[in-house]
Formats: sequence, structure tokens, C-alpha cells
Amino acid sequence: MQTQHSSWFTSQNICKVLVGAKLISKDQALDLLRRESQVSEIISKKQGGKSSKDLSLIDVILYLNLERQDQPGKIIDEDLIYKAFAAAWKLEYKKIDPLKLELKTVTGTISKSFALKHLLLPLQVEEGKLVVATPNPFNLEAVKDVEMVSKLKVRTIVSSKSDVEKLIREFFGFQYSISAAEDLFSRKGVDLGNLEKFVSLTAVDDLPSTDQHIVNAVNHLFSYSFDQKASDIHVEPKRDICLVRMRIDGVLHTVYKLPKQLHNAVVSRIKTLSGLDMAEKRRPQDGRIKMGKGDTEVEIRVSTIPVAFGEKLVLRIMDPDILFQDLEMLGFSPDDFKKYKRLISLPFGIVLVTGPTGSGKSTTLYSSLRMLSSPEVNITTIEDPIEMIHEEFNQIAVQPAISVTFGSVLRNILRQDPDIIMVGEIRDLETAQSAVQAALTGHLVLSTLHTNDAVSTVFRLLDLGIPPYLVHSSLNGIVAQRLVRKICPYCAQSFEMDARELAGLGLKIEQTGAVELKHGKGCVKCRQTGYMGRTGIYEILPYSEALKRMTSNDADLEAMRGKAVKEGLVMLRQNGIRKMLEGKTTYQEILRVTWDLI
Ligand SMILES: [Zn+2]
Repeated sequence: MQTQHSSWFTSQNICKVLVGAKLISKDQALDLLRRESQVSEIISKKQGGKSSKDLSLIDVILYLNLERQDQPGKIIDEDLIYKAFAAAWKLEYKKIDPLKLELKTVTGTISKSFALKHLLLPLQVEEGKLVVATPNPFNLEAVKDVEMVSKLKVRTIVSSKSDVEKLIREFFGFQYSISAAEDLFSRKGVDLGNLEKFVSLTAVDDLPSTDQHIVNAVNHLFSYSFDQKASDIHVEPKRDICLVRMRIDGVLHTVYKLPKQLHNAVVSRIKTLSGLDMAEKRRPQDGRIKMGKGDTEVEIRVSTIPVAFGEKLVLRIMDPDILFQDLEMLGFSPDDFKKYKRLISLPFGIVLVTGPTGSGKSTTLYSSLRMLSSPEVNITTIEDPIEMIHEEFNQIAVQPAISVTFGSVLRNILRQDPDIIMVGEIRDLETAQSAVQAALTGHLVLSTLHTNDAVSTVFRLLDLGIPPYLVHSSLNGIVAQRLVRKICPYCAQSFEMDARELAGLGLKIEQTGAVELKHGKGCVKCRQTGYMGRTGIYEILPYSEALKRMTSNDADLEAMRGKAVKEGLVMLRQNGIRKMLEGKTTYQEILRVTWDLI
């Protein structure tokens, strides 16, 4: 697209701006100018014949993954380049947060083709002016056209080209699907003559969920949620609108407000996909959808519940990239990783993973099973409900209503010759007894328990009613865990805190004096939270001979804990403190997830 290349985007000028911003050196600039045509040829071949004339030096720089000369190790990305231009133009630069955009504002003023041709993305109305993001703010003709159409003064700000292009496509695509569906819907029953067939099709009060526009709109919702790494999508009926919200890094964001008429159609589409009973609207239902996302398959758990203004849907996205990870990447310290690997490599016995809800137990279990799986072993899981389907496992869901419980399934599957058994959770004596039985008959059993730390888990088993001698002979070891948020790498900053101050908060460290820590200042990439992604902190307790000897019905928790520490147990909070000192997380996070521990 030649139109967006104003005289600003000549190779000479690009170099001048980037050298001025200290992103590249003068020598690098000369080198770039020498290599430009050669690299452009390579890129255009890779992109399948796109003419190298359409590429600018910016594309070349991005392709080469150049490091910033002022901050070696950091790559020059598109944002940095356009930020440098914005500074040269004395204009505001903005990384657009798509969650803050209003569908109506973006798509309401100009057409998609106009927006794409001139790379103009209307963001919002601010103090009577329409704020428009663009990588090229000097297309004055086009800006004038926008002012005429919108009857508003335009204030242009700078954003990267690929962001603007991507968001134009996304928002207009979605808007098109929504309005087309709405249009079709509002015509329903108006012109009976021509639309008789259509009307009979929609005699039920829904637009057919197979309607292509609704299909597109729902597809868009999914791909958008994958893009944003959302963990849940909520589709909520309100009095006049249908609200779509997404949970990202633990927080709900409102993403769309759709016309209320479309609510039923969207719900029907999702119910069809998840195999739910379309006619049933008054009782809660559960279903699941399997969906491709890049090379992986994502599983989405759907639940419906009737609320005042209709059916509310919650979709939980079970991302295999999260549930099935490389064990080594979960956050174990190298020492703990070795200990844990040993525990699950034993041919039989019980390994328990403990922690509160949402502490990442499922990820640990699934990732362990995946590591253990091979054609030579039979892995069977008993779950409530099955969180994630994996072809190599035999997975069974418990159904208490028909007496299919953890305990009863466990007794029966021993006849199915499993090698490794995963039991979703040990809640009662029956399950605990069956797990012990399985372990004693030569099976490796992985399961979870609701306890706060590793040592007290031994006591929980005794409390459930398992006699000490059976605990001795069946338990291999225990993992206690929590999830902490990781500091956002884009806005991490160092600061100092006094060791005594940390100790006062309950975080005792060996150092004295000033300690260097990190925290996230907050930026667009982390939605101003200062955090991005999560990692585990662990406590790994191999159940040693000495600990076995101490296990009895009148055992002393503190004595056993003391012994475990002597044998090398690094406790949860201590593991967290290590992560804090490594600059991976904050002291607030450690306190938040270990407040219930000593
Ligand atoms: Zn950040």
C-alpha cells in the first residue's frame, strides 16, 4: 500500500529518526541502507511474492531483529520504532488496549475500506474531539474526510502499523457479523411474503444458531479471547443489552455490549457447539467444546444458568499450553525438581499434591502424567469433572448421582490393569482407602488433598482414618504448592528495601541491610497491573524413613516439621522468598499466597 508512505518513510528519514532516538548507531544506519534491497528481496520471497517495493526499511529492521544499541539484549520492535517517530513528530504515541475500545466508536464513523486504505483507527471521543490512531498522521486529506463525516475535530495520535491494521480488521469484522445478524433478526416476520421460509425457520424465538453471521461473531469471540489469553468468557443477559466479559490474569474486563436481540442467537450457537439441550433454558447445563488454536487444541467448558434476563453462559478455556507444561518450567527450584521427579518415578506408591483451589494442582498433575506417559504404560484418571481430555489417558468422570464415586471407580479400575492412576481428589475415607489399596498392589497413584502444607498432609491422612502402618507403606511423598503472579518484564523496576523491614512482614532472609527487589510499575502490556503470567512455588517432602518412624496416631506436627527441615525441606514461603530475591515476583505476592502458613 503506497498511500501510507509519505515522505517521512523514506529509508534515509527512518534512519535519521532511529539514530536520533539512539535506537541504532550511525554505522548501523549505513549498514542498513547498504543491505536494504537485499533483505527486502528475502522478505518478499518469504511472504509469497509481495513486491519488495511495498516494504519499507521498517520491515527490514523488524525482520533482522536488531538489538537496541543503547540497551543491548533488547530487540527493536515496531512499537519502539513508531514511538521514536511520534517523538520526532511531537505527537502522542499510544499502545492501544483493545479492551478499552468501543465497538461503536471504532466502526461507526468510517468504512472498513477507508480505514484500511488510510490506516486510521477511531479510538474515542475526548473533549469533543475524535481521537484517531494511525502510523502515518500526515495524510491530511483523509483526516479531513473523517472530520467531515464525523462532524468532529480529529486529534491524531501515533500507533504501530500492525496494531492499527489488525484492530481495524478485527473490529470491523465483528461489527459486520453483529449488524448483519441484527438486521436479519429485525426483519423477521415483517415481510411475510418473501420471507415465509425464513420465518418458519425462526418460529422459535431464536435466530438460527447456524446463521453465518452469528457463526462468525461467535468465532470472533473465541479467537479474540485466545489472543487476549483470557481464562473465562462470560455472556450475560441484561435488561437491554448482552454483556460479554473476559477474565484476563484473574480480572474481568467488559469487552462487548451487544444488542439484546442477539443474546439468544449467540447463546444458541454456543449451546449447539457444546452439545447442550437447546430447548432446556430453565435448568443449568454443562458441556464442552473442542477448538483449534494454532497448532494446539483448546478445550472449552461451557456452563449455562438461568438468570433474571435470560440464560447466562460462562465459558472456561482449558488451554493445554497451561495445563500440560514442561514439568521443568512450572517453577520448581533445581533441587526440588530432582526430588519431585524421583517421587513420581517410583514404580508404586502415593504422591499427593496439596494446596487451596486455584493453586495450580491440576497443572502439576497433568504435566506429570504427560511426562510419565508412554506406549508401555496405562494411565487412568478419575476426575470430577474431567478438566482436559488427553488421548493417551483413559479418563473417567465421577457421577455421584448414580453412585459412580472416586472410591467405587478406583476399586473397579484395578481390574483394568492400570500402571498409573490419577485420582482427582481424596475427600473421604473410602477414596483414601482405595488409593492406599491401589498403591499397595503395585500402582503409582497421584492425587490431591486440601491441606495447607506438606507435613500436615500426613496428619490429614491419619485424621481421615488411615492407620499409621498403611500410611508408612503407601505414601511416597507430598508436594504443597501455590501460584504467584510474575512481575511484568516490560515494566519491571528495581528498588531497595531494608532486610529488617522484610523480616517485620514475616519474610526472613539471610542478608542484612538493603536488599534489591523488583516490582512492575504498570504498563499497557500488563494492563497497568505490573504482573504478567504466573509461576508456582513449591514445598517437596519425600516421606523418609525417619518421618515414617515419627508417624503415629499421637504424632507431633512441629517435631515432624523440624525433622523434615533438617532433612532438607525448603518450605513454601522460603521458596517464595527465593523467587522474590531472584526478581521474579514481589513480596506482596508471597504474603498474599502464604498468609495462612508459618
Ligand atoms: Zn507491565
